[in-house]
Amino acid sequence: MSAKRGKLAITEDVSVKEAYQKHQMLKQEVDNWHQERCSHWQATLVLAKKPPYLPIMDLPEDAIVELWQRLNSAAKVEITDSTLFEMWEQLKQGKNDMDPSMATRLQMAVSGVAKLASQIVYEKGVPEQKYNPRTSDNPMKNTTECPVCGEVSTLAVLAKPEGKRMMHCVTCGFEWPVQRTGCLFCGSEDSKRLIYLDNEAFPGIQIAVCEVCGQYFKEIDERKLPVKDYVWEDLRTLPLNYAAELWLEEQIKRNNQIN
Ligand SMILES: [Zn+2]
Ligand SMILES: [Zn+2]
Repeated sequence: MSAKRGKLAITEDVSVKEAYQKHQMLKQEVDNWHQERCSHWQATLVLAKKPPYLPIMDLPEDAIVELWQRLNSAAKVEITDSTLFEMWEQLKQGKNDMDPSMATRLQMAVSGVAKLASQIVYEKGVPEQKYNPRTSDNPMKNTTECPVCGEVSTLAVLAKPEGKRMMHCVTCGFEWPVQRTGCLFCGSEDSKRLIYLDNEAFPGIQIAVCEVCGQYFKEIDERKLPVKDYVWEDLRTLPLNYAAELWLEEQIKRNNQIN
């Protein structure tokens, strides 16, 4: 392989254990809700004919508020349903002044509901070529956009057994096949300009930074690091994202000095 490699400096030390416990507690609530309410809500979902099959903004808000409220109760936060509907409405209009823990619970509620749609798409089995392929008509079509919920994913997975590259959506949990090499954002196949960065604190995970388009994505090698909970894995490894952003900034500064 001719790909360039480098090391990321990790400085951040957040209270990972505490964050994990909170995440686990909320995730358990989401799982319970799924078991109880999955068939009820799935029967109400209407999927589009082509991707994105069910964008976040079109999810049934009753389902979001129902799950959001469960998460609020689990976190011992009292708030009325009507306030939550209002907050969701505000957010849809691009206004967001929620406190971070309320926003985290909403994020988990939205994910929980979006997952209902991705399960339906999995069960129906949509042909692979529908997953946003780059075609000659549309060479720049974004392969990082989730075909189910329409959110942009920055998490790629090299799946077992032979390392097939899949994109993983941390919002709805859907996975779809993508090009095996090169940049997933701009499609550049220039391996010299895709730099893989890692840190020994996070084995099995790399950040691929593309010098062509200046974007980066995370790549988890499932053959080295089996993952049960991708949302947590993505959160836990946020220090890698911060480090990659710093690295990118430094590159830009250096390039400016050279020119
Ligand atoms: Zn998705
Ligand atoms: Zn790129």
